[in-house]
Amino acid sequence: MKYCPNCRTEYRPGIKNCSDCGRPLAYNLPDVPVEAPPDGDLVSVFDPPDQMIGQAVAALLEDNGIRCILKSEQIPMYDGVAMMLQSRWGQLLVLVGDRIRAQELINEYLSAPEQEEPEGGK
Ligand SMILES: [Zn+2]
Repeated sequence: MKYCPNCRTEYRPGIKNCSDCGRPLAYNLPDVPVEAPPDGDLVSVFDPPDQMIGQAVAALLEDNGIRCILKSEQIPMYDGVAMMLQSRWGQLLVLVGDRIRAQELINEYLSAPEQEEPEGGK
């Protein structure tokens, strides 16, 4: 099976050029990353002290439409030893353009005393 590298259409063997765009066909498509690469540089906006906080903040940002990457820096090691050597669990990265908004959300999250239940909930 051959493919057009431009429009990614499949063609029968024997066809040399794409009928849509005229490009020479290839046997393999170029690798497509599973996740589209972010269109910008990533910056660290938060150093979560542990995975739970990291995931909570990542979920908060995603709820607000900010794409983020949670990156663990923990070296697999004996429990406890790693905790003592690592002052932080990892990093939370966002696109440069989302940095200010992300930091506002994180500050709000961190300064909120407790998650308050709405009055008369349940
Ligand atoms: Zn084509």
